[in-house]
Amino acid sequence: MAIVMDTALLVKNMEEEQKTNVAELLEIGITPTLAIVRAGEKKDSLSYEKSMMKKLERVGILCKSYAYPEDISKEEFYQNVKDINHDDSVHGIIILQPLPKHLQSWDLNYLIEPRKDVDGTNPLSIGEIGMCKIFCEPSTNVPCTAESVMRILDHYNIELSGKDAVVIGASTVVGRPVAFLLLNEEATVTICHIKTKDVKKMCKDADVIVVAVGKKGFITKDFVKEGAIIIDVGINVDENGKVCGDVDFDECIKIAGGITPVPGGVGLVTTAVLAEHVINCALKASANE
Ligand code: NAD
Repeated sequence: MAIVMDTALLVKNMEEEQKTNVAELLEIGITPTLAIVRAGEKKDSLSYEKSMMKKLERVGILCKSYAYPEDISKEEFYQNVKDINHDDSVHGIIILQPLPKHLQSWDLNYLIEPRKDVDGTNPLSIGEIGMCKIFCEPSTNVPCTAESVMRILDHYNIELSGKDAVVIGASTVVGRPVAFLLLNEEATVTICHIKTKDVKKMCKDADVIVVAVGKKGFITKDFVKEGAIIIDVGINVDENGKVCGDVDFDECIKIAGGITPVPGGVGLVTTAVLAEHVINCALKASANE
């Protein structure tokens, strides 16, 4: 029977350290501040913004909402974000996705300057994850969800060096950075995606499975080796309106060595990592003043 890798204690420890760091910043007159940028009033974005603000404000981070109309022009939206980059009272910026189609373009990725890019969306960030541990310590932030996966593995002392890890999902915010981070810890990494011929075959011998697909019940017991560690990143809503992950938890828990629950796993740590990134950006900015 697997251990349930819940993340309440990890998050509590992170929040305590964050409160100490915020107190130090407040003493020198700096309030760590996150700018949350959105265009439009999508229900999902609004509830994500509200819950993010609640959690960040709990550790003393000030959240400023920059809400623009859905039909704002691309020029105006991009200029506004550039202006926030130059506002010294803001230490981190996050743009809520998905943005309206007319605002999406490749240069959007470069809009947030790396020093304020708290969710590691700038291509420089993923580039550094690919290069680091080998050449240097990164100067940018890792995408929060990807870092959250690694924090959980570390919290539960999961050895990665020499282990076989399978990442299912290849998005730039989750799958790809997680794969790089696992590689940096000397795991042998396989990335699966929608075109992978046989995901089950790839998983069957894996010591660690990280799944970020967005499909309820995607990982069944047939995918899992006895004792494997499963990190479930997926967020789905089941037929009863309950939040669930990509893993058939009840089946897999009988075979795996450890498994993260949804809710109560990766998602909780993701927001705590975001808070940490905002505070670290504020600390770096204060050191450069
Ligand atoms: P995405 O849609 O950008 O990417 C999904 C990936 O899954 C793609 O690479 C796709 O190729 C792959 N995929 C889809 N169907 C597949 C299949 N049948 N077999 C193999 N691969 C398949 O999604 P994302 O932004 O990476 O998010 C993935 C999931 O993680 C979603 O449920 C999302 O809500 C969740 N998520 C959770 C957090 C968190 O903090 N817990 C943060 C971000 C995303």
